[in-house]
Amino acid sequence: MSVYTLPDLPYDYAALEPAMSGDILELHHGKHHAAYVKGANDTLDQLAEARDKGALGGLVGLEKTLAFNLSGHVLHSIFWSNLSPDGGDRPDGDLAAAIDEHFGSFDAFSTQLSTATTGVQGSGWGVLAWEPLGQRLIIEQVYDHHGNVGHGSVPLLVFDAWEHAYYLQYRNVRPDYVQRLWNLVNWTDVTRRFDTARQVPNPLA
Ligand code: FE
Repeated sequence: MSVYTLPDLPYDYAALEPAMSGDILELHHGKHHAAYVKGANDTLDQLAEARDKGALGGLVGLEKTLAFNLSGHVLHSIFWSNLSPDGGDRPDGDLAAAIDEHFGSFDAFSTQLSTATTGVQGSGWGVLAWEPLGQRLIIEQVYDHHGNVGHGSVPLLVFDAWEHAYYLQYRNVRPDYVQRLWNLVNWTDVTRRFDTARQVPNPLA
């Protein structure tokens, strides 16, 4: 039985146009994300088989494959719900206050997240995360789906910087794609994730 399943998008493939073309979204969700879901499930099956047979010689590769695919599934699931045809603008309330506290201002925050996303070398993500040990927001520059990440941090807003996310539409101009992403951000979703993450007292203590 599969542990992970591909979530439906909360909107149609064409709903995020013109910032994100329907072709890109259909491929990105239906092919790329689906492959990470399958990869995570298949790798769990292979790990179970290896345990059953007492044959753990390939464990290093399986653990890497699990981290890659599982993190890909997690980040894409968050990415879809972070976006909305009615997105854009800025957050308010506690999230706005926390952004001001931890980054100085919304502009300083958005500049750092944009720079983290556009500056990924190769494939990766820019991520706004809640870091529970320090009880603060941080920005992470993630490589592939799982590198350069602080353990325990909870992704709240994620920007996919892989070429598959923009190349068909923006070609090599990743900064233009990232700039347009801000117009799609669903701050209601980000705020919900922020509130949920803060409800856990400190899981790392
Ligand atoms: Fe992607």
